[in-house]
Amino acid sequence: MCGIIAYSGKDNAVPYLVDGIKNLEYRGYDSFGCALIDKGNIIVRKDVGDTASVLNKYRIIKNFSNQGMFHTRWATHGGISKENAHPLTDCKGEIAVVHNGIIENWQDIKVSLDGHRFVSQTDTEVIPHLLEERLSRGDSMERALRAVFNEIKGASSFVVMRKGDSNMYAVKHGAPLVLGLGKNGFFVSSDIPSFLKYTNKVVFLHDGDLVVFNQNSVRIKNLLNKKDKHDVHTVDISPGSLDKGKYRHFMLKEINEQSKLLKSFENYDFSKVRLAASKIRSAHRVYLVGAGSSFHAAAYGALILRKSGIDAIAIQGQDIQNFSRLFERNDVFVIISQSGETADLIRSLQLMKGFRIGIINTEGSYLSRNVDLVINMMAGIEKAVAATKSFMNTMVLLEMINSYANGSSESAMHDLKLLNLNLYSLFVPSVLSAIKRIAEELKDDGDIFYVGRDYGYLISLEGALKMKEVSYIHAEAFDLSTIKHGPLALISQGSKVIAAVTEPVEETFYGLEEIKARGGHIIGISPSNSTVFDEFVHVPEAGVFSFVPLVIVAQLISYYTAVKRGINPDKPRNLAKSVTVN
Ligand code: GLU
Repeated sequence: MCGIIAYSGKDNAVPYLVDGIKNLEYRGYDSFGCALIDKGNIIVRKDVGDTASVLNKYRIIKNFSNQGMFHTRWATHGGISKENAHPLTDCKGEIAVVHNGIIENWQDIKVSLDGHRFVSQTDTEVIPHLLEERLSRGDSMERALRAVFNEIKGASSFVVMRKGDSNMYAVKHGAPLVLGLGKNGFFVSSDIPSFLKYTNKVVFLHDGDLVVFNQNSVRIKNLLNKKDKHDVHTVDISPGSLDKGKYRHFMLKEINEQSKLLKSFENYDFSKVRLAASKIRSAHRVYLVGAGSSFHAAAYGALILRKSGIDAIAIQGQDIQNFSRLFERNDVFVIISQSGETADLIRSLQLMKGFRIGIINTEGSYLSRNVDLVINMMAGIEKAVAATKSFMNTMVLLEMINSYANGSSESAMHDLKLLNLNLYSLFVPSVLSAIKRIAEELKDDGDIFYVGRDYGYLISLEGALKMKEVSYIHAEAFDLSTIKHGPLALISQGSKVIAAVTEPVEETFYGLEEIKARGGHIIGISPSNSTVFDEFVHVPEAGVFSFVPLVIVAQLISYYTAVKRGINPDKPRNLAKSVTVN
């Protein structure tokens, strides 16, 4: 899940790369490294830490180089150390490589590279040594790259610089890479936002593409001999959306953006949603697939479809294989992915036999190009690692698909408008101070329980995930209707329990009373207060969209808890936003 940005052109690469890498940190941030040209030599600077600290430590901005590549790492093989940071080089330090992905057969390759001196524990390091080996036998660089491409197994994209070579080389396989056409040069990067300030002209690369680029020209050839077209797309994303604006963190900005995004659904073109609904209505079975927050949205989507009488089931990305023998041609798959690059989903795409609908946020991503129907999440760029607005927009789209499938779209639109009228009430000072007070109480807890029934349980799952991701507190969701079958044993005097109450029905309150009787401290998020709540956050009711305010409150509680614990919620430890490795 590393981030790569490379530039070759007439301008100084350094300021572009320094600026660009910041927009890739969501992909990993345990170490940073770069390769630049200085007096004809490749200089490599790298270290453990986030990009800003390493950039400062080595005063990278003071360099001048017409070509260069930066890398922010999310380690898969080899610990987080200076030697394991990218770029990795060959024995002579003349070939430098930055890489995103996993080389599954790296150990065998390493053994075969007798006589080469390895200095890291990464899988990546075999690439520069393999190239060195091939070049020493007289191969051209392109031939050597083809050989490496054929030899390494697994999803891997990488960029190469070589001493004395005016060309840079990028190979895409599995992990994302895009080409940006700048005014005076070329960018190759893991994601568009990294160069969006300098160009919005983008070529989406395909698997097997080898990009050879220098100051003056760029050339693409496909190592799998595929004949895919490479059209130049003009991307319509405002570079302004890359900044935090008035907010302290991206997560808070993105939580707040949800009001505007929900409003924009009032004028959304639902034609693809309608088409998806008609496919779903006539499906043998509907499988909704996703990972992390997208799986929670999938589970919610499956529940509402089942309540409409449609055979629907949610499965985790990694489980697709286990279900594959059940798949039939007239099944419909709803594939949910913010990045459109989720490794589990890409790997299993060909197993999904029926009609494949993607709910995807990233234009040009692998999944968006390889499904039968793409519904754009329309969440805009989401930079915080924890999904907020992309989750919300997916939930809204699923609700609309369901409403078209069961013939209640008019009433759903009415609910959406009602929600938009009342949503402001969540962001008023009294509610925000109640949320901050709750965060203050939770910040020193070891365990937080999230409970709910039915829809409320699925919202609880997402609430608990947000809390874990950004605050590192153990948070777990339980279905209130089954709490007696085990989880109740965890409740003791003062246990913090957050109850997401969508419909205040009796069964919900029985479960909560049982928790309270055992000393649980219950924080209710609900449209109406109850004596069972020790604390209460009032949320507006909005028919089928009643989940929205509950989700927002859960997001805000997690955000403020993280901040009060001194954690930067935008970059939680050990996590990266797009899981592009298996
Ligand atoms: N496998 C490489 C490493 O551990 C790259 C990891 C990645 O792309 O996430 O350094």
